[in-house]
Amino acid sequence: MATSTVVKVESLKDNFDDLLTCTICLETFKEPKYLPCLHTFCEACIHTYINSTNKEEKPIGFKCPVCRRLVSIVDNKENSETWAKQLPLNHLIMSMIDRKAMKTSEKLCDACSFRNLSQNAMSFCTVCEEAYCENCEVHHKTYKITRNHKIVPIKDINTDNNALNFLELSHVTNIKTRE
Ligand SMILES: [Zn+2]
Ligand SMILES: [Zn+2]
Ligand SMILES: [Zn+2]
Ligand SMILES: [Zn+2]
Repeated sequence: MATSTVVKVESLKDNFDDLLTCTICLETFKEPKYLPCLHTFCEACIHTYINSTNKEEKPIGFKCPVCRRLVSIVDNKENSETWAKQLPLNHLIMSMIDRKAMKTSEKLCDACSFRNLSQNAMSFCTVCEEAYCENCEVHHKTYKITRNHKIVPIKDINTDNNALNFLELSHVTNIKTRE
């Protein structure tokens, strides 16, 4: 029935926004970096956090702000900014933020951005995971290697199952690494 579908999509949307919010600055992640426990924070936030909590001369690591698990650092001669930089980027969160931008039609053409141009994106290639403006979509469909890629209109992105797949994927990852 139509009503049950609406409820499901609505609750999914709430979770989705939550997952994209940094628990330190309470804003959408900027440069989301994840710790071994999979908790994710902005690179700048984790840097500030390490600075404010690390009082030791030769620290061996820092504790996750959420679960307090120790994150050991490779080289304690490096400064905390480098530790934050060295943390892996959370690509999952990055793509989700991208998708959120598409939903609010703030998404710019990735190919044009690469050339420092701002063009609103109209379509999205599901193979390249990149958004394109009208012009770039035409180019994308011209080249032999990308000709057969599945391109969908940006406005349709959030009505398909992509968001759901991403959420499920992140839950599975979480469960797997929990001891
Ligand atoms: Zn933050
Ligand atoms: Zn944690
Ligand atoms: Zn373009
Ligand atoms: Zn493509």
